[in-house]
Amino acid sequence: MPGEHAKTGLIGNRIVVNGQVQGVGFRPFVYRLATSLGLHGSVCNAPEGVIIEVSGRPDILAEFRQRLTGEIPPQAKIGSVTTEEIAPNGYRGFRVIPSRETGEVTARITPDLATCPDCISEISDPNNRRYRYPFTNCTNCGPRFSIIENLPYDRKRTSMRIFQMCDKCREEYENPSDRRFHAQPNACSVCGPHLEVWDKSGSILVSHDEALSFAVEKIKQGKIVALKGLGGFQLLADARSEDTVRTLRIRKIRPDKPFALMYPSLEMIQRDCAVSEIEKMLLESAAAPIVLLKRKRNESNDVPCGNVAPGNPYLGVMLPYTPLHQLLMADLGFPIVATSGNRGGEPICIEEHQALSELGDIADFLLVHNRPIVRQVDDSVVRVVREQPLILRHARGYAPSVFDMDHGNDSMLAVGGHMKNSIAVLSKKKIVLGQYVGDLDSAGSREIFANNIESLTSIHKANIRRIVCDKHPDYYSTQYADDSGKPAYGVQHHYAHILSVMAEYGLEPPVLGVSWDGTGYGDDGTIWGGEFLRVDESGYERAAHLRTFPLPGGDKGIEEPRRCALGLLYERYGDDFIGHIPDSVRSGYSDDELRLIAQMLRNNINCPRTSSMGRLFDAVAALVGIRQKVTFEGQAAMDLEFAAENSGLNLEPYPVAYRNEDCTIADWGAMVNGILHDIGNNVNRNEIAGRFHSSMIMIAVDIAKRINIPKIVLSGGCFQNGLLLAGLSSRLEDEGFGVYWPHRLPVNDGGLAVGQILAAIREKGVK
Ligand SMILES: [Zn+2]
Ligand SMILES: [Zn+2]
Repeated sequence: MPGEHAKTGLIGNRIVVNGQVQGVGFRPFVYRLATSLGLHGSVCNAPEGVIIEVSGRPDILAEFRQRLTGEIPPQAKIGSVTTEEIAPNGYRGFRVIPSRETGEVTARITPDLATCPDCISEISDPNNRRYRYPFTNCTNCGPRFSIIENLPYDRKRTSMRIFQMCDKCREEYENPSDRRFHAQPNACSVCGPHLEVWDKSGSILVSHDEALSFAVEKIKQGKIVALKGLGGFQLLADARSEDTVRTLRIRKIRPDKPFALMYPSLEMIQRDCAVSEIEKMLLESAAAPIVLLKRKRNESNDVPCGNVAPGNPYLGVMLPYTPLHQLLMADLGFPIVATSGNRGGEPICIEEHQALSELGDIADFLLVHNRPIVRQVDDSVVRVVREQPLILRHARGYAPSVFDMDHGNDSMLAVGGHMKNSIAVLSKKKIVLGQYVGDLDSAGSREIFANNIESLTSIHKANIRRIVCDKHPDYYSTQYADDSGKPAYGVQHHYAHILSVMAEYGLEPPVLGVSWDGTGYGDDGTIWGGEFLRVDESGYERAAHLRTFPLPGGDKGIEEPRRCALGLLYERYGDDFIGHIPDSVRSGYSDDELRLIAQMLRNNINCPRTSSMGRLFDAVAALVGIRQKVTFEGQAAMDLEFAAENSGLNLEPYPVAYRNEDCTIADWGAMVNGILHDIGNNVNRNEIAGRFHSSMIMIAVDIAKRINIPKIVLSGGCFQNGLLLAGLSSRLEDEGFGVYWPHRLPVNDGGLAVGQILAAIREKGVK
């Protein structure tokens, strides 16, 4: 046998385990397994993963290798394992040796992990030395992505490097049988980070455990507290108090957009919301995202006030995910608003002094600590559709996500879109999707965008020669790519949406992509968004789309759904359109205003044409009188979804016609007649909304049957609409199609970067 030692009968193995194996207790696990089997050797972290060199009898080594992949720690994810035979090493015993710092980076950054049950019981136990210590963690839980500066994952490459471990923590850290063996953020109240309460001038009022009690008292009194959490600041307030929530809305200039809530316990969530098995699993998972849950009727006094999510049948709810949140919530005992600590349009704050200046006139007090946050990682948002997770915001607990490819040895950067920006890096046949940044309108988010590019490419030692971006010339991300000095490659928006899902599932073409969203730059210079794309080996073809209509005022139409309604009516009725405007829309305009918009439409001044599904939703929401203007993106479409939920999808669709030009066009003209007819007859708006949803589903099913490709991908912001996604996917499945929609990457523009990379790989024919 090669490598077998002549005298001893021992052999040696060098095993490289790649994947999510750093910061999840993998080395202690290897140590315990090897020592329990009496094997000799070593284990270390290296940029390419965990490297094990081990010697022993062949049969014992075989058992070791089997259990190595079969008994991994709960948060570990194995990408690949390679084993080579080496000469038996000269070790006596088994050791964890220092990390090797050079070499190819193929290990993965672990996302931040919610507090584990062991750590929760320690902070709740008065006899434990970590009683009420808010920065408790172990190899199974705690901060990761938000404190990691570089790989391999070691304390000196995290923001915990500024804290010197005390003797007791050091002992745990060095004891292979301890749960904190090589837990890089290990800390206690003697040696680790601590809390402080600052007033609005930045003076320290109280510190340590007193700070916690102080903040609890203030929240109970109706004050707003800015909390430095895990991946950034949050604004906390008593969710039960109409007054407090109103104050927060006024100060944050956020009139309607729902606030996320944090609850002390799952039991309390179940009292206020319907929670399915999968929703429960998500709430309690290590990612611990905000989960959208259907609100139940509850008459008690302790429930969130209506103002946390006005007119919304859902609540965005999460459980405490750090010891700090655990302690706060246990002391409070009621649900609180826990919304991102930012000013409108700006990214969340991560630093105390930044928070002081940006949140100083929103919050009454700041509850801060001295563990630096390396990067913004906002709370993730998930909803469940047909018992499957649908990610709306890909951030804490999920980011960075890794998608394995079977080709793409190149390094590449994709800069994503302009809204809900996330970037992605291709390196060593892996696409790594970074965390949600937000819209790239403000200087602050542009800075984070640039920092993300810098840090993700340098951590993965990706030598970027090429940048992939959207085709929209006005996106900040596109301009960044153009100005980078590197070759930039533009990818059509909706094609990228479909490819992102193909990357998630490793789907081979051909597929029919149904990409429905608000705005995307089309190949013909118009605004696309109601698209059916045939994706094959060589690229894509626009197989069908919605009939286009003019959008008076362009982007203004996004803020004013009523403008979409006017454009739709003009397209349908031409110059006579004024006579068809329903009162709901008409009453908001003076005669002069209306005359001006009519002129714009007639003379085609600033009236870009669009096939956008998002704008069609907006137009219908305005026509039926649900909403004329919005205060946040997607508001009108959400309202229309909620209205339709009340009536369901079993109503008859409105008629739709199909025309064939250069591709199939779904003509909603007759549907608009039907809707106006129903409005005239005072048909309930829930019913009209339901019939509209049914009509859209019918369009997709009709076109899928015409084009007849067995695999169908659904992606784009409109599929954040659970009713639409559930209804359409199940109808298509009933027709025998295989239907794919994203579970690991966001369905909205947050997933674009992954699709952009796949487009560039496909374009180049890279193997
Ligand atoms: Zn733990
Ligand atoms: Zn300590």
